[in-house]
Amino acid sequence: MRGGSRYGAGRPGWKAKTTQYRNIDVRRFQRDDLLRAGLAYGWQWKDNAGKVKASIDVRTDHGGLTVSYTTSGEDVTQRIGITTTSCTYGGGRPWFVCPCCHKRVALLYLSRQVACRQCFRLAYPSQSEDLVGRAWRRQSKIEAQLTSGKRMTEATRERLIDALERIEAIKDAALYGQMARLLGHDRGGKFW
Ligand SMILES: [Zn+2]
Repeated sequence: MRGGSRYGAGRPGWKAKTTQYRNIDVRRFQRDDLLRAGLAYGWQWKDNAGKVKASIDVRTDHGGLTVSYTTSGEDVTQRIGITTTSCTYGGGRPWFVCPCCHKRVALLYLSRQVACRQCFRLAYPSQSEDLVGRAWRRQSKIEAQLTSGKRMTEATRERLIDALERIEAIKDAALYGQMARLLGHDRGGKFW
């Protein structure tokens, strides 16, 4: 699965057999300037051949966006809050607020619910355990540094935050392996 892209019009919805675990990445939406209030657009996922696999409708408001789509014959509409942490060089770093646990996340997964991977209790595949284990340990160290209250330069702080984002990306990449395996075993979408 490649990243999403914007499209102009069309009926939202996806087929049951490709239902589970599309995700939306707040960084991608930010980069494409799709978080501004008052927008209405479609977002779609394509396979490597460029064929559209799934699509959702998105509307933005002040402080959030609402996604709507159809999955396994069910209509899903969910508002997702957006929160911003301040950046060193002006502007802000946006995050989705998980509608389920209200934690700040970069990625949300879409099924019959919209939630973060912890809420979906997604596990990592065994072949990725070492990698993910290292990522978690590194993440804990960095988070301890960031919350220690010790003085650090803004450049250092920024570097640590960037490292955290890269760690998140590693963990999510590892997760995709697990998702592919799960999809082979259960096409009913009952992972919640
Ligand atoms: Zn959550």
